[in-house]
Amino acid sequence: MWKQSRYGKGVVRGERPAEPERAAPPEDAAERRDDAEVGDEAYVNCPFDEAQYKAFVRALVESEKVEARDFEQVRYFEGCLPCEVMAARGEQTLSFGPMKPVGLTDPRTGRRPYAVIQLRPEDEAATAYNLVGFQTRMKYAEQLRVFRMVPGLEEADFLRMGSVHRNTFVDAPALLGPAMELRALPGVHLAGQIAGVEGYVESAAAGFVCAMLLAQKLRNEPLRPPPPTTALGGILTHLGRKQPTYQPSNITWAHIAPLDPAQGKLRKRARYEAMAERALRDLDAWWAAG
Ligand SMILES: Cc1cc2nc3c(=O)[nH]c(=O)nc-3n(C[C@H](O)[C@H](O)[C@H](O)COP(=O)(O)OP(=O)(O)OC[C@H]3O[C@@H](n4cnc5c(N)ncnc54)[C@H](O)[C@@H]3O)c2cc1C
Repeated sequence: MWKQSRYGKGVVRGERPAEPERAAPPEDAAERRDDAEVGDEAYVNCPFDEAQYKAFVRALVESEKVEARDFEQVRYFEGCLPCEVMAARGEQTLSFGPMKPVGLTDPRTGRRPYAVIQLRPEDEAATAYNLVGFQTRMKYAEQLRVFRMVPGLEEADFLRMGSVHRNTFVDAPALLGPAMELRALPGVHLAGQIAGVEGYVESAAAGFVCAMLLAQKLRNEPLRPPPPTTALGGILTHLGRKQPTYQPSNITWAHIAPLDPAQGKLRKRARYEAMAERALRDLDAWWAAG
């Protein structure tokens, strides 16, 4: 095992990375979770060779899982799938997900391993670690057996076992009005995960937006939501976007209003930069007018 953050480009807590060094913003939520808020050598990497990887995937698929109860509907959030569900989708699914080896070099071989599991410290003294991206429904005894197959964890002590969590959220586009207020129960405003957003930052941001809208309502002012060109506004866009089965979402570029077509077709990086600059401009103007 060795310590390294992906691409060696982790962000030391509280510091901004040098801009030119920064990788393009990852597009999927799982990747964002992996790379957010970590120190330069924040992860411990457990490398797999091909045979170890395939045996591990087989063990995940064949392991005993906790059965769903009659009253449980098993509907997983795609951004946070249990590892055995990913393994069952295809032998290589995990190697393109939480076990992807990109941006990591095994110092013993000088090469990228076939696959990795990353461990993230749980406490400042780094006495305990969690497995990044490994939700699971495996029975506890099976977790001990299967996770001890991870190279480096053969003799690990397990302090806490994994379990699948349940998200409770409303069908926001159907139930929430423009002030994040329950249409059927005026005076009750929802923010955070229960309102239908996903993620730490998004939940805090939704609380902020909800408070702003509530303050405007209490002052009898017309509602002035944050512009749809900003990430704060994008949260409201997603909450208002009707879907056949509503699912919470992290903030993504898809929730932010597209650029004016008059600006022509830009490459992805340039497009994101232009959207970010526009967002900061529009946010300043919105804030100044408040
Ligand atoms: C295992 C796991 C891993 C996650 N990993 C990430 C991650 O890496 N990155 C990320 O961005 N997001 C992650 N999330 C999602 C993130 O945790 C949530 O989106 C976020 O915490 C939601 O914040 P919230 O304040 O809306 O709700 P919560 O954090 O759920 O807070 C709700 C609070 O209300 C309390 N409460 C409930 N009912 C009552 C009641 N009747 N009276 C009083 N209090 C009550 C609860 O105890 C709780 O403290 C993860 C979630 C889980 C479960």
